[in-house]
Amino acid sequence: SLNPQKHAFQAEVAQLLHLVTHSLYSNREIFLRELISNASDACDKLRFEALSDASLYGGQPDLRVRISFDKAARTLTVADTGIGMSGQEAVANLGTIAKSGTREFMSRLSGDQKQDAQLIGQFGVGFYAGFIVADRITVESRRAGLPPEQGVRWSSEGAGDFEVAPITREERGTSVTLHLREDALEFADGWRLRELIAKYADHIDLPIQMEGEKWEDSPQEGQPGRMVKTGEWETVNQATALWARPRKDITDAQYEDFYKHLAHDWQPPLAWSHNRVEGNAEYTQLLYIPQHATQDLWDRTQKTGIKLYVRRVFIMDDAEQLLPRYLRFVKGVVDSADLPLNVSRELLQQSRDVKAIREGNTRRVLSMLEELAKQSEAKSAEPSPADAKAEDAKEAGQPENPQPEGGKYAVFWRAFGAVLKEGLGEDAAQRERLLGLARYASTTHASTSLADYKARMKEGQKAIYYLTAETPAAAQSSPQLELFRQKGIEVLLMSDRVDEWAMNFVQAFDGTPMQSVARGAVDLGDLQNEAEKKAADQAHAAAAPLIARLKEALKDETADVRATARLVDSPACLVAEDGGMSLQMARLLRQAGQ
Ligand code: ADP
Ligand code: MG
Repeated sequence: SLNPQKHAFQAEVAQLLHLVTHSLYSNREIFLRELISNASDACDKLRFEALSDASLYGGQPDLRVRISFDKAARTLTVADTGIGMSGQEAVANLGTIAKSGTREFMSRLSGDQKQDAQLIGQFGVGFYAGFIVADRITVESRRAGLPPEQGVRWSSEGAGDFEVAPITREERGTSVTLHLREDALEFADGWRLRELIAKYADHIDLPIQMEGEKWEDSPQEGQPGRMVKTGEWETVNQATALWARPRKDITDAQYEDFYKHLAHDWQPPLAWSHNRVEGNAEYTQLLYIPQHATQDLWDRTQKTGIKLYVRRVFIMDDAEQLLPRYLRFVKGVVDSADLPLNVSRELLQQSRDVKAIREGNTRRVLSMLEELAKQSEAKSAEPSPADAKAEDAKEAGQPENPQPEGGKYAVFWRAFGAVLKEGLGEDAAQRERLLGLARYASTTHASTSLADYKARMKEGQKAIYYLTAETPAAAQSSPQLELFRQKGIEVLLMSDRVDEWAMNFVQAFDGTPMQSVARGAVDLGDLQNEAEKKAADQAHAAAAPLIARLKEALKDETADVRATARLVDSPACLVAEDGGMSLQMARLLRQAGQ
């Protein structure tokens, strides 16, 4: 029927809407950023679907956004020629909270209006942000590929429910009309809107248009003139993809805004790197290191966060061939000059250009991280004057905020260190560099690099010693550390789940062997003096009969029993065989039922 149907909002949406509409806050202009971002996403989606079905364009290949207003009617409309929505999609997408960012936002609400209002400003709440300035929103849409009669009108006053009705709509795409609140009429103004479009949409690779306006004098002498619309649409934003512009023309704020748009993140990135690469493959890379992990980071099937473009045409999200899995936290854009436009995921797997891009991206990310470590650790070691700090950060393409405790590299390592360590096993070619980036707790330091550990090694110490355990506490209290503690030898304590597996692939760092203190016979070599060696030999001889009896008694339980010099207070401990499975690994496998 043509009668509108009423639907209730999902409970969380109602809660969110209540909050949005009842919180006064200074940053309400972000509603426009959200609507433009949705329009831009919709155009990207159509472009992508049309790669395999060009008929979706229906003979109208133009992708654009038009923003118009009517002062007298108090409306503001954002209209796109993107993918559009079917009736069902409108109900599903505009009636529930699908977006993970919004859910995270909801979970952080404190109930304190002032604090929460600030949060909205940071997160952005997507489509529902429209209700900050509107007391009614009407959406008209038709999905690409559906006939004009299958359009939909969605409307709501932002209270508990919304209505949907079928309509006939000639144009494909979506138009969102805000019926502005009395106190939000500033947004029915050409200057104000142009200013906001420049602020939020210059970097978007899509024309955002407004109707031209010109001043018209009144025909009656002495009467005031007025602005009239010219009927011609003008593109208001730069509409060049940010990454295609020269670095020197891009401000830090623009880089940060682009990151937020790209990653749907509300916090600025820790660092970025923007380069045009020429050589085997020609491409532009713009890569960002976020400062916090997304929920799906631990899902091994999660794809990398790289968007692939070919000569500025959007090809796909999450192009997993463009970075190794252990760098899946990186967000960014790669724009290739060589790949064909109709490139598929299958084709990407075989392409030599893609291989070159992947290697280039990997090297770039590792050098960004090395740079970040160098800068933030040097800074926390010896504080330099504040303005010199800001200058350094700028050159490396790093925002000046945040400057949390332990430096930005510590922030990075806490969020992503365990992911990066997967590379120790997966990427032999980069293993040494990855070890250089790794940070571990030790018996004497909360966090150390291997290079710093080496610099502190005792005279005569020939190996970097480490212990893997399930938790930092278990590592700290292991009897296997007794002798090392007594002799003042630092031992790295590894308690990330991935360490056990990753260390199977690591034999040495910078020419120094890495040795587990829980494996085989620990050879302290020159760290033991002659007297100690002699005492150990004597103890060994004295214990021989006992050892023989233990061996016999435990012959089904253990591979070997031997006297050791590694214990000081404890009578016995278990060790893994050299080259065999470690204790921690065996424990993990047992837990997994193997
Ligand atoms: P997000 O953009 O993060 O998904 P939003 O609240 O901004 O969250 O939008 C919710 C959903 O509504 C979108 O994911 C999309 O499916 C749909 N939507 C919103 N605006 C448009 C639009 N202009 N064209 C097509 N779909 C849209
Ligand atoms: Mg959105």
